[in-house]
Amino acid sequence: MIDVKNLSLEELENFLLGVGKEKYRARQIFKWLYQKQATSFAEMTNLSKEFRQDLAVRAMISSLQPEVVELSVDGTRKYLFRLVDGSCIESVLIPEEGRNTLCISSQVGCAMGCAFCLTGTFKLTRNLTSAEIINQVCAVLQEVPVNNVVFMGMGEPLANLDNVIRVLKTLTSPDGMQISTRKVTVSTSGLVPELERLGREVTVNLAVSLNATTDEERDRLMPVNRRYPLKELLTACKRFPLPGGRMITFEYVLISGVNDSLDDAKRLVKLIHGIPSKVNLIAFNEHEGCSLRRPDQATIDRFHKFLLDKNITVITRSSRGADISAACGQLRGKLEKSVTSDK
Ligand code: SAH
Ligand code: SF4
Repeated sequence: MIDVKNLSLEELENFLLGVGKEKYRARQIFKWLYQKQATSFAEMTNLSKEFRQDLAVRAMISSLQPEVVELSVDGTRKYLFRLVDGSCIESVLIPEEGRNTLCISSQVGCAMGCAFCLTGTFKLTRNLTSAEIINQVCAVLQEVPVNNVVFMGMGEPLANLDNVIRVLKTLTSPDGMQISTRKVTVSTSGLVPELERLGREVTVNLAVSLNATTDEERDRLMPVNRRYPLKELLTACKRFPLPGGRMITFEYVLISGVNDSLDDAKRLVKLIHGIPSKVNLIAFNEHEGCSLRRPDQATIDRFHKFLLDKNITVITRSSRGADISAACGQLRGKLEKSVTSDK
């Protein structure tokens, strides 16, 4: 049976036309799904009863309910969702002055194998469907408003690009969730052809996880660099279509003794020269089984100040939700030991 949450507006229009209905009904259904969070066709009272019953025979509306919600001392919430096949994914809600940012997952695990990332050590189980991606947002919307959506949870969004593009369209569509394209960010480890396709097909903010300033170091930290080395990646960034005044975000995870020297900072300035961009520094979040370490605060401050002095827009992202393993790179789609009841 078809899950309407897996369809773009256009695909829903075609589905309705195929069963002899009017195309404009798709917009009405979309509004129910994404503006009113309907979970059944029966709720869609501007459709005739007969039509609603007919839809219920041909199609379904999937949803996700969090199995566990963990609350951090800093207000961050981590949602654990169990999918129909038993796999688990996580989403993280980060409340900041007057706005809520939701960090969502695009895959179960990740195949990219970055040396510093816990998600990466779990390898890829599978891509999420469009429905599973958007249902993370729908589930959280049941509780609180969501102002920003970032694809920075589990997985490499550009490795699941068809589904991610479909979701991006629904998130930003006037008939869908109506989130401004300025409030949606896709983060990538640097899959160049997919990055180019993303730029062609949708308007969205782009974050690129740079994390190193030489190919030698980046090859070690992020195996994707062997396929698309820095020069190719940065050329693609230069060409990425940025509407009025927007900037690319370069994420840079600072790892002690690996990429946190002033020489690294110098090279970073050179690499991003000429690209409208800002730099997001993230102190490495340590996790079990990984020997990498977070630099001390003085080293982080020194790196930050160097960029600032070169007139680069830089923020050092505070690690939110570390006490519930909800910080960057700590998602693993499993229950924390302390809340696992069946062991
Ligand atoms: N796969 C995408 C999006 C998910 S990762 C990507 O790599 O961009 C989101 C961010 O978390 C990336 O910038 C990544 O570099 C960062 N990250 C991963 N592991 C981390 C860790 N242990 N500490 C801090 N940041 C980490
Ligand atoms: Fe995957 Fe991103 Fe983690 Fe790399 S940093 S393993 S691309 S989720």
